[in-house]
Amino acid sequence: MNATRATELLRSAELRATTQRVLLLATLIAEAKPLSVDDLGLRTKNSLDTATIYRTLETFKEKGLVRRVDLDQGRALYEHAGEHHHHIVCTKCGTIRDLDICLPKTLQNQVREESRFAHVNQHALEFFGVCKKCV
Ligand SMILES: [Zn+2]
Ligand SMILES: [Zn+2]
Ligand SMILES: [Zn+2]
Repeated sequence: MNATRATELLRSAELRATTQRVLLLATLIAEAKPLSVDDLGLRTKNSLDTATIYRTLETFKEKGLVRRVDLDQGRALYEHAGEHHHHIVCTKCGTIRDLDICLPKTLQNQVREESRFAHVNQHALEFFGVCKKCV
């Protein structure tokens, strides 16, 4: 169950598994897509106020439990930080899909060479397009 999983994740991140934290993390795990603070408020039936959600998400972010995703929608979105992946967003209806496709390693090497950086540790990449329903 998501609540059980959330509790385990909180404990392994050395966070107390409070009701609010479990609820928020379980919601993010269940949705499996990026959600805004407003979405999270609705999904948790307004049992958490906006300030609490923001504060909790910040704590989760510091512990690597959630990831902030910028999908250019003018608001921050958060998702459970599971496997590394990318997204494609419909610019008409806002539908978000996860992608299993990642950049080839060679590109990361090229970036390192071109930038003369010592290491390239991570990257963020999102795609935008129009879904079939919106054509
Ligand atoms: Zn995602
Ligand atoms: Zn669409
Ligand atoms: Zn990637």
